[in-house]
Amino acid sequence: MIKIQDKNNCCGCTACEQICPRRCISMKEDCEGFLYPSVNIESCVDCHLCEKVCPAINPFTPAQQIPRSYACKAHREDIRLSSSSGGMFTILATKIINMGGVVFGACFQKDWTVAHNYTETLEGLKLFRGSKYVQSFLGNTYQKVRDFLKEDRIVLFSGTPCQVAGLNHFLRKKYDNLYTIDIVCHSIPSPLVWKMYLENKQTGNHIKHITFRDKFAGWRNYGLRISNESQIIEQGTKEENLYMRGFLENLTVRPSCFACPARNYTSGSDIMLADCWGLDKYHPEIDDNRGMSQALILTEKGKKLFDTCQNDIFTLRIPYEEVEDKDLHLPITASTRPHPYRDYFFENIRKRPIEDLIASCLKKGDLRSQIIENLKRTGKVFGFDKIYRIWKNKGK
Ligand SMILES: Cc1cc2nc3c(=O)[nH]c(=O)nc-3n(C[C@H](O)[C@H](O)[C@H](O)COP(=O)(O)OP(=O)(O)OC[C@H]3O[C@@H](n4cnc5c(N)ncnc54)[C@H](O)[C@@H]3O)c2cc1C
Ligand code: SF4
Ligand code: SF4
Ligand code: SF4
Repeated sequence: MIKIQDKNNCCGCTACEQICPRRCISMKEDCEGFLYPSVNIESCVDCHLCEKVCPAINPFTPAQQIPRSYACKAHREDIRLSSSSGGMFTILATKIINMGGVVFGACFQKDWTVAHNYTETLEGLKLFRGSKYVQSFLGNTYQKVRDFLKEDRIVLFSGTPCQVAGLNHFLRKKYDNLYTIDIVCHSIPSPLVWKMYLENKQTGNHIKHITFRDKFAGWRNYGLRISNESQIIEQGTKEENLYMRGFLENLTVRPSCFACPARNYTSGSDIMLADCWGLDKYHPEIDDNRGMSQALILTEKGKKLFDTCQNDIFTLRIPYEEVEDKDLHLPITASTRPHPYRDYFFENIRKRPIEDLIASCLKKGDLRSQIIENLKRTGKVFGFDKIYRIWKNKGK
């Protein structure tokens, strides 16, 4: 039976919970606000299914072929501007709906928590559009996907790589009528941090709209915007807004993101979507800072779906060296590192107002990096770095 000894090794995909024939696994929230499986040992019959479907215990092997990669964006500006990057998700999902299929994705709930749901309509797709920087609640999503597949419906599942890996493990067989899209993901913030952050903003306000990727300052400078019926309650770029900084600097995020079980194209997805960072460096002639997606085509099925979209999108084939540029797309192949004050942050999460705590941890982190940088520089001036290298090599 599944036993979480090290939280780095559980991404919370729920595959174990959803596969258990005895229904003896439930996902319980820990003090950081993340869900982990908990087993009722008395009902367990030791069938080991939960372990077999766990992507952290049995990761898929990385794809052998170098994927084809494209910079792409929707011709429709309204779609592009309301999407995180170039709107490629909506274009692909539209094809599935037009084939009579079902699309699964992450959306806000009435209380602004984030959960997976499905839609069979083009209107319903709007709710999945845009990145939500909070771990989404999966519930029994994988079971619903399987039900639709068994009814021979075409299904598109979209989510983080670990969620796609979880689904593929849960299904335990390939379905011709299943398409999967994962989004490149460096880490995912705690739903508890989001709840606490929002509680501060909600006082006396009826929130009407939230976007994590508003392009008010351009696609590259994206930021969070929260508004009610008549006015903006909160707006700040990714450098200004504390919630965004806590996420992007890996302070408020899940431990498994530092040992991601779905890196290096191991989720089994058909297409991977990312922000096409590096456009200003490699292709400035097509960069308008309004958003460009990057699509990595990972399977033949993915290629066929992508090809059906050609009339609705602009595309440019990009060489794999650009995708491999570590400054741009490191999260595709390697796990991110925790902020040095991550553990301190979660130990103190209920002791101080959330924004104060984020600000103070980020400040301490900046100070720490400055000190390390200064020490390195001083070390170089006095030649300590050479002595250190000689001493290190001696030990080998
Ligand atoms: C947590 C997170 C981290 C990311 N990190 C990076 C990164 O480091 N580098 C990079 O290049 N791109 C990253 N992305 C992906 C990027 O932001 C865009 O989602 C991607 O480029 C697709 O954009 P789009 O315009 O095609 O579609 P959009 O309409 O913007 O994307 C919608 C898709 O995102 C999915 N989605 C949204 N929120 C969630 C969520 N909380 N959990 C699971 N699925 C979700 C929806 O289901 C849908 O499939 C991240 C996305 C998320 C959600
Ligand atoms: S071993 Fe089988 S019965 Fe026990 S928790 Fe795992 S899946 Fe459930
Ligand atoms: S990674 Fe998924 S399957 Fe494995 S223990 Fe965690 S929730 Fe269960
Ligand atoms: S970084 Fe990996 S473990 Fe973390 S949410 Fe993204 S895919 Fe899942």
